[in-house]
Amino acid sequence: MANPAPIPFNKPYLHGRELVYIAEAVASGKISGDGLFTQRCHAFFEQRYGFHKALMTTSCTDALELAALLLDIREGDEVIVPSFTFVSTANAFALRGARIVFADSEAHNPNLDVSRVEALITPRTRAIVPVHYAGMACDMDPLLELCARHGIALVEDAAQAIDSFYKGRALGGIGSLGAFSFHETKNVIAGEGGLLAINDPALVARAEILREKGTNRSAFFRGEIDKYGWVDVGSSFLPSDIVSAYLYAQLEVLDQIQLRRKALWQRYWDQLAGVLPHHGVEVPYVPRWATNNGHLFYVVCRSLEHRDTVIAALRQAGIHAVFHYQSLHSSAYFHDRHDGRALPHCDRFANCLVRLPMYVEMSDAQCDRVCEALLDVLRQH
Ligand SMILES: *Cc1c(COP(=O)(O)O)cnc(C)c1O
Repeated sequence: MANPAPIPFNKPYLHGRELVYIAEAVASGKISGDGLFTQRCHAFFEQRYGFHKALMTTSCTDALELAALLLDIREGDEVIVPSFTFVSTANAFALRGARIVFADSEAHNPNLDVSRVEALITPRTRAIVPVHYAGMACDMDPLLELCARHGIALVEDAAQAIDSFYKGRALGGIGSLGAFSFHETKNVIAGEGGLLAINDPALVARAEILREKGTNRSAFFRGEIDKYGWVDVGSSFLPSDIVSAYLYAQLEVLDQIQLRRKALWQRYWDQLAGVLPHHGVEVPYVPRWATNNGHLFYVVCRSLEHRDTVIAALRQAGIHAVFHYQSLHSSAYFHDRHDGRALPHCDRFANCLVRLPMYVEMSDAQCDRVCEALLDVLRQH
């Protein structure tokens, strides 16, 4: 029998309307920032998730950098970030001169261990940046309480967390700021793209200025002032309307995308959750307060060697599975700056976690093939 086609880790989704909307944006004669489709994206997020203000950015990285500017993070400040995350979560604040204080994950949940965050707070702590890994919520109530009591900002890295909830509240809408990504590996995509949700009304006016090169151009375009100029520092964080046109087509079919991703996630779960623990391999941890948005399905192998064996054997079977974040506290840039605390749970997820293929157009049969191949590997190793 011929080998079946390889199963990629990800395949960027194209519904079809994206190209229609891009053509429409081009035909409108305005493809710079804050055009028709960007405004539609803003309205979608504000209406569907109740964000006080939504601002499209060129990436989640940019949304986080805008957040750091907005909070006036500067040298001498400390920001608490999980070590098991993408570089940008920490880099956005390091770029402003902050000292990054890395938090460990929970033992059986890649998200930061909220119960051990308070011990990391000092008089210099300015922000906590929880990451909702795999789209599953961190325990936000204790974090909100901590931040209120210490006068610290709460910024959600919701890059993976679109359409996911904590006790019924939309992720990205709980902290004073929330950052989303529309990178092609996320649930809803625009190639590169992001969004900053501004939930604290006091931050809105300045966010618009920082996003527009430090000018009050947004207020000018709304007719609130009769000329615009340089009123603050800032940068250019707004995407072309072509990016928003692609995204808006995806937002229109968000429910379809989510339905398919969640069905695939459940299909993995149904075939793996009962069996993997017998091989000493863990399946995703779904906290009781969190919804699952089908962003990714991961398993946690027994060791680094075991993980490498599993990935290589799947590769042999034509299946592209991948590991994920490497501990930021021991990265080339940071290891000399780290305070030396061991973060063993983060290290374990860095060494042992494997992500399985997941994309909208993945078929049930492909999902079953991944499960069979994985179970086959585990029976041998
Ligand atoms: C993808 C991701 C980012 C970065 O998003 P970009 O849009 O590529 O800048 C940041 N944080 C987390 C947790 C992510 O998963």
